[in-house]
Formats: sequence, C-alpha cells, structure tokens
Amino acid sequence: MSQAIHTLCDMSVDDLAALMKDWGQPAYRAKQIYEHVYVNLADSPDAMSNLPLALRGRLSQERPLGSLELARVQTGDKGKTHKALFRLPDDAPVESVLMIYEDRATVCVSTQSGCAMKCSFCATGQLGFTRNLTAGQMVEQVLWAAREVRNAGSEVKALSNVVFMGMGEPFNNYDNWWAAVQRLHDPVGFDMGARNFTVSTVGVVTGIRRLAQEKMEVNLAVSLHAANDDLRTRLVPANKKYPIPAILEAVRDYIQATRRRVSFEYVLLQGVNDGPQEARALTELLRGLLCHVNLIPWNPVPGTPLGPSERRRVLDFQKILHEHHVPCTVRVQRGVDIAAACGQLAGAHP
Ligand code: SAH
Repeated sequence: MSQAIHTLCDMSVDDLAALMKDWGQPAYRAKQIYEHVYVNLADSPDAMSNLPLALRGRLSQERPLGSLELARVQTGDKGKTHKALFRLPDDAPVESVLMIYEDRATVCVSTQSGCAMKCSFCATGQLGFTRNLTAGQMVEQVLWAAREVRNAGSEVKALSNVVFMGMGEPFNNYDNWWAAVQRLHDPVGFDMGARNFTVSTVGVVTGIRRLAQEKMEVNLAVSLHAANDDLRTRLVPANKKYPIPAILEAVRDYIQATRRRVSFEYVLLQGVNDGPQEARALTELLRGLLCHVNLIPWNPVPGTPLGPSERRRVLDFQKILHEHHVPCTVRVQRGVDIAAACGQLAGAHP
C-alpha cells in the first residue's frame, strides 16, 4: 500500500498546475517549479529564485521537495562510487548507489526499504521487508544522484542511467515503480530516455507480463542464479512461487512482444552454482533465446556460509557460455569497500 505523501517529487506537472490554481497562482508557476525540480535540480523551494518569496515559503511548509532524509554519503573506488543512506519518516533505511564511469553515470535505486525475497546470498534479504517506497521516494534518489554527478567534477557531467537494482523487488511495488519511471521520462522535466532505465526482478512473472504490455520500453534483467528448480529454490526462495519454466515462458512472451533482449543475472557462488555442469545446463536452458547473461562475482555478506567463486572459475564459466554462443559478460565490481556493491545494501555501518 502506498502512503499518501504530498511532496513535490510525488507530483506530475498536471498535479502542480492544479495546486497552483488552488493557491490562486498564475498557471505558468507549475512549469517553473517543475523545471526547478527536474532540470535545475533544485534541492529545496528556497533555491527556486524566480518564485515570489511567499510562494517559496508556502511550498516549504506544505509541499517540501521530498520525504527522504539524507543521513550519510560515503565514497569509494577513488571517488567514483557514492553511496547514500536515506531515512524514511519512520526511520527505515533506504540506500542508493551512484557509479561514475568514463562514459556514463549510473544510479542504482531502491524500490522498497528492505526486501521480502530472502535470497540466501543477499544482505537486503536478511534484513527483511519494511515497506514499499512511493514513486516520489524513488524519484528523490535519482535527483540526489543527478546533483551528486553535477557536483563531482568528473568527465561525465550528467546522470545517464537508472537501474532499479537496489533494495527491494520492483515488481512487488509495480505501480509506484512505474509511476517513478514515467515521471523521470517526462520530456518536460528530467527527460531520461526509455532505454536508459533497467529494472531487475527476482522473476515475478506477473510483473514481466505487465511490462511486456507497457508502451514505453525499458530494459529488463531477470535474476536467475541457477539452471534448475531445486538449486534455485535453495538460493532464491521465491522460486517456489515463480519456478524457472514459468519465468522462461513469461520472458519468451516478453521478447516476442517487445523484440528486446533480456539480461539474466547469475551470481557466482564457489562450489554451489559455478561448475562446468551448471554452466552447460544454463546454456541448454537459454538456447535460442534473445538474451545476455551477466555473471556477478558474489559480494561478501557477513553471516552466510557462502564464498565468492575464484577468478579462474568465473572465467571458465564464461568460456563455456561463449562456446555455446550465449552472450555473456562479467559485472564489474563496484563499491565493495563501502558495502555498496550488489547485495550489500542493508542500511548498516560498515
Ligand atoms: N529484487 C531484484 C533486485 C535485487 S538486486 C532482483 O532480485 O533482481 C540486483 C542483483 O544483485 C540481483 O541479481 C541479486 O540477486 C544480486 N545480488 C544479491 N546479493 C548479491 C551479492 N551478495 N553479490 C552479488 N550479487 C548479489
């Protein structure tokens, strides 16, 4: 259930127009405010210098920019990775990670505080589920990252990509998640291209099917991690509800409807799912599918009996996929030194 939070980040330009009318303001104020939020990246109504002071004051009182409180920012990877810890009004943690590369800047956004999926290798899964984020709270994380890139003084001057791979399962908060994507895509405002969004799901079949019907085409990544149901259920308990055959059927239909390549994420765990036999089983499972496999070296999560695959095993696994003509890359690790890497987001102090 979404909370009714009235912040600027929860409002479309039409919502703002209605509010301005209500407040007896000229209609053009709505667009001015919207541009301050999404184009100038203002961090509060005080920074909206072409608005009358009284209006700025009223906005601050009644329509603050957002509802997340930035508690801490840490940087790692020589300043190229920034992790933000936000607090919801009830103090629950939300984390976002900005990754600056030579040619792009990507933010990894949370869609829930905590996560209910309980994947055995993931720190957020151990945390458990607290609540869904509103669309505005997802938008706020992106605006934080956009400001952070602007102020970082690096080669890349603007945020280029948004991946919904932080805390939570986006498709278990579909409506809010999709509202956030649409807001950020709005050409009058933030204007991020459809292809610059990626959503990652544990395999929620209903979400994959819904996404296939949407007019706007964002990239889809599916967390697979195993090629058979027994092993996958041990790693990803949600497999009981959404087993591999059901996921693959939905993915096939998705590809047919959209003609888009789907990514499969596969976290490599030493001696668990990283042997040549598992690699071959994966190639059989994915044969003929318009897809790409993203191998993820496992990032350590305290309290689990698991270990990361040795580099040699990662490369051998990749080689088998290549030999069977399955496109495959190994995800570059980012943010391990500040517990900001995939699966390490748990709102804890490292
Ligand atoms: N709920 C979504 C988004 C989660 S995180 C999903 O399941 O896809 C994004 C990716 O990081 C997922 O593929 C997830 O399985 C993976 N991941 C989780 N913990 C990890 C860890 N400790 N090391 C590496 N990848 C991990």
